[in-house]
Amino acid sequence: MKVLKFGGTSVGSAERMHALVHLISDVSPKIVVLSAMSGTTNNLVEIANALYAKKNELAKKLIDDLNTKYTGVISQLYKTEKVLNKSKELLVSHFNYLHSFRMDMFTANEERAILAQGELLSTALFHYYLEEIGIDSVLLPALNFMRITVNEEPDMKYIELNLTAELAKYPNNKLFITQGYICRNAFGEIDNLKRGGSDYTATIVGAAIRADEIQIWTDIDGMHNNDPRIVDKTLPIAELSFDEAAELAYFGAKILHPTCILPAQMCNIPVRLLNTMQPEAKGTVITQKVSGDSIKAVAAKDGISAIKIKSGRMLLAYGFLRSVFEIFERYKTPIDMITTSEVAVSLTIDNTQNLDAIKKELQEFCSVEIDTDLTIVCIVGNFTAEKEGYALKIFESLKNIPIRMISYGGSEHNVSILVDTKLKKDTLVALNKGLF
Ligand code: ADP
Ligand code: ASP
Ligand code: MG
Repeated sequence: MKVLKFGGTSVGSAERMHALVHLISDVSPKIVVLSAMSGTTNNLVEIANALYAKKNELAKKLIDDLNTKYTGVISQLYKTEKVLNKSKELLVSHFNYLHSFRMDMFTANEERAILAQGELLSTALFHYYLEEIGIDSVLLPALNFMRITVNEEPDMKYIELNLTAELAKYPNNKLFITQGYICRNAFGEIDNLKRGGSDYTATIVGAAIRADEIQIWTDIDGMHNNDPRIVDKTLPIAELSFDEAAELAYFGAKILHPTCILPAQMCNIPVRLLNTMQPEAKGTVITQKVSGDSIKAVAAKDGISAIKIKSGRMLLAYGFLRSVFEIFERYKTPIDMITTSEVAVSLTIDNTQNLDAIKKELQEFCSVEIDTDLTIVCIVGNFTAEKEGYALKIFESLKNIPIRMISYGGSEHNVSILVDTKLKKDTLVALNKGLF
């Protein structure tokens, strides 16, 4: 069985949904994971923000505008009166539900229920379309099997058990459709896998059923060697290892959800990145195999804060770092980069929710300086210790860029540098010129 995930632009219009059929209608068994139509999740975020701000009229307008958009989509999607009417009823029920949030208290729970509507709509509409053209498929409700733990990690045992049970209900079917992104949390409430989470659904589902392959279909021909939104003339990479792809995803290559590689890697399932606009393009294949010995790609992650911790007590002392790390652990704040000298440690975080409390605790035993609005630029490739010249190439390219931190040696696949976000574009362009 294969898992095929189609992102927002791949289901972004009636025309795109029509085109999708050619990519999934062969006889091989598959689970198709769909995102919300492009723009919808952003629209739902705006609706939720309006409701938080108690701007009821604005929320009404935003919901009505979205309804108009979907009414346009269904008029182009279907040909038969019967399916069109059925889809109109579907829209009525979803949009009445959205309006119902205007009547009552609004909390994070309601917000998550709103954010789930995009994937529920896209999958139901696509399922109706398959029905109209006579392609047999089963719509699997992700909320029946996707669950995260209290630590917001996929509950793999639960997912495996429940997805297998869902699939077992349809022994004669080969084509299954399900929602990306949405799940339940440990309390059974509707939740999600964070923005871009449909990729994560695909790899979690792939791992749960031990799929032969996971395909992520999007609007570009694979992972490029630099951020195509910022740098011109970027190129697709044919092969990446799981480790390399995971680093790029985590450090900002938007084509993949930050943590979606892990489930595929754990079960050694190849992940293929493909382009719905250009299905014949080779794309990128991500496997266990480490190929080539060169610098492969660069990615950037914004919204980083650096914390510099200094203490005389660190000199020749053991246990100091443990006391530092314990604080971050207690506040569930992951550290991305870290560098140390004899008397100081610099580290970076992107979740600043508890930064004030962390700072206060650190200040009890050391001096603390915090810088914000920083960007981690991550250079990924196969750098084994014996190979020479990479560092020179990287830093020669960056000779005009002030660098705040450097991290190398944590893995054989990653050199990370920290720069001011204002210099992100210059940094990516300079690396493109110097490295590729
Ligand atoms: P989808 O809606 O299909 O999930 P996304 O917008 O999440 O699509 O991801 C695809 C986009 O990721 C591309 O259009 C591209 O602009 C952006 N992107 C950022 N970095 C990279 C990269 N290194 N390689 C390819 N695409 C990238
Ligand atoms: N629809 C969700 C988002 O826009 C999930 C996804 O597209 O992957 O973030
Ligand atoms: Mg995406």
